[in-house]
Amino acid sequence: MHRILVSRCLLGQPVRYDGGCHGPFDHLQRWQLEGRIVPVCPEVAGGLPTPRAPAEIPGGQGQQVLDGRRLVVNNLDEDVTAEFVAGARIALGLAREHDVRIAVLKSRSPSCGNQRTYDGSFSGTLVAGEGVTAALLRREGVMVFNEQQLDEAAEALALLERVP
Ligand code: SF4
Repeated sequence: MHRILVSRCLLGQPVRYDGGCHGPFDHLQRWQLEGRIVPVCPEVAGGLPTPRAPAEIPGGQGQQVLDGRRLVVNNLDEDVTAEFVAGARIALGLAREHDVRIAVLKSRSPSCGNQRTYDGSFSGTLVAGEGVTAALLRREGVMVFNEQQLDEAAEALALLERVP
C-alpha cells in the first residue's frame, strides 16, 4: 500500500499561521481510513509556533530558497529561512521513511504551495512558483498535488497500484 504525505492543515488540524485549517476532503478522509496518510506541517516541524506571523518568499520560488539564493521573510521582517528549510527536510525525511511517491499539500503556501505562491509583497499577489517543501519534494521525485487536485492525486495513486 502506498502512503501519501499530506499537509496537516488539510486534515482539519489547526496548524495554519493564523490557527486555522481546511477540510474535510472526501479523498483525504478515505485515505485516512485506509491508513495511507503521513501528516506533516513543515513550518511547525521546523520549529515555528502557531499562531505565527505570515511569511512569504520574495519572488515566490522555493527552489531559490533551497539553493541559498533567497530568504523566507515574515511580515515582521524576520528571517525564517532556517525554520522553513528545516521543515522541508523533515518532510523529505518522512517521505523517504514511508516510501512516499505522492504528496497532497496546501496550495499557495510558502512551504506547501505546488503551483502558485505569494510574491513577497504581502499584498495578496500570486506568482507561478512553489513553496520550499513542495520544491524539495518535487526535486526528490515526489509527485506533489494540492487540495484542488485530489482527483489527479487519486489517479496517480491508482496508476501506482495498478496490477500489471
Ligand atoms: Fe503547515 Fe503547510 Fe498547512 Fe502551512 S500549508 S499550515 S506549512 S501544512
